[in-house]
Amino acid sequence: MTDILPSSPAASVTSVTRRYRFATEVVTVDNSDDPHNAASVPIYQTATFKQKGATATGEYDYSRSGNPTRTHVENHLAKIMSAERALVVTSGMGALDVITRLVKTGEEIIAGDDLYGGTNRLLSFLAKSQNVKTHHIDTTKSDSILPYLSDKTRLVLLESPTNPLIKISDIPTISKYVHDRCPNALVVVDNTMMSPYLQRPLELGADISYHSGTKYLSGHHDLMAGVIGAKKASVGDELYYVINATGCGLSPFDSWLLLRGVKTLAVRMDKQQASCIRIADYLEAQGFKVHFPGLRSHPQYDLHASMASGPGAVLSFETGDTGISERIVEGTKLWSISVSFGCVNSLISMPCRMSHASIPAHIRAERSLPEDLIRLCVGIEDADDLLEDLEQALNIAGALPTPSK
Ligand SMILES: *Cc1c(COP(=O)(O)O)cnc(C)c1O
Repeated sequence: MTDILPSSPAASVTSVTRRYRFATEVVTVDNSDDPHNAASVPIYQTATFKQKGATATGEYDYSRSGNPTRTHVENHLAKIMSAERALVVTSGMGALDVITRLVKTGEEIIAGDDLYGGTNRLLSFLAKSQNVKTHHIDTTKSDSILPYLSDKTRLVLLESPTNPLIKISDIPTISKYVHDRCPNALVVVDNTMMSPYLQRPLELGADISYHSGTKYLSGHHDLMAGVIGAKKASVGDELYYVINATGCGLSPFDSWLLLRGVKTLAVRMDKQQASCIRIADYLEAQGFKVHFPGLRSHPQYDLHASMASGPGAVLSFETGDTGISERIVEGTKLWSISVSFGCVNSLISMPCRMSHASIPAHIRAERSLPEDLIRLCVGIEDADDLLEDLEQALNIAGALPTPSK
């Protein structure tokens, strides 16, 4: 029955190119097809669309297959991701689920060893239920991928920077290795930490880039969304088929919220990043081991700078003592204790107790994920307030003066 649905409604994005600098493009949404010249793309809160005749199918017929609000946000995101086609779904994990449906039983995935917890869970599920094996490798060393590339390789899944240890993968080098040796394989980058403002993996050699739209793209923690960008429209069309078949396309209202949120991506990120750089410098000056690609002390500072235009606004640091870390987290007033990141409000968390708790302790140890690690996700509050609040929490916790490393 699916064949009677339009195969690809309103996939009009194949030739959208950026003409202005990012901050201009991200706030400039093409709504020139609006019948009433609405300044903001309206919410088409409708499940179905009436057709002109029994056999005449219009551009839209059913919102699972396509909806004008969703199409607008997809076209806009395609432009800022340098994708030929972008697709929006109900969560970041939903985005990865759609992408992994391109893998057939017996084919293989190669992925990093410091992945987002939910990504690990989905890959383990695929191994058990679909016999799709994932090789976890240290993607900070590009050559470590070579022994695993074979004609079974279907996806190579990278995060850069990783979260929470902020490890960097060389996207151009790994993409070249994969494309030279495995023409059937796709390089997929989870770009959630950077957002397309700071890093565009499709311009660096990747085939697919995806984001949790729940984070920086929407920016306000008021919706969940996943965003997929495909360098080639043909890959985008395959992914669209899965979305239509499984029914995970983003709702009209959430599509509208995402489009509204993304317009301020550049100003939010500029402010969040500037404050994060100050906080990273402060913590390093106090003697803490800080993981942040904006610090000269980061072992892959140059590699990151060659791929991205900034370090972002998430850092992690070690205190050397789990109890001290707990007291710091609980001693802050302005920083909310919360998983996730990318929101206008600042967040603090202990990954091993929260976002990464689903990874078994022995694997966390194997991946040298320190139990005392604190992650800071910097928002748009006044940077002096954020620093003062952090400093009083460090004092309460007995983490100052300079602890020995
Ligand atoms: C949050 C996150 C995801 C999952 O996205 P959801 O919208 O929560 O489903 C995937 N990857 C990274 C890096 C994330 O931070």
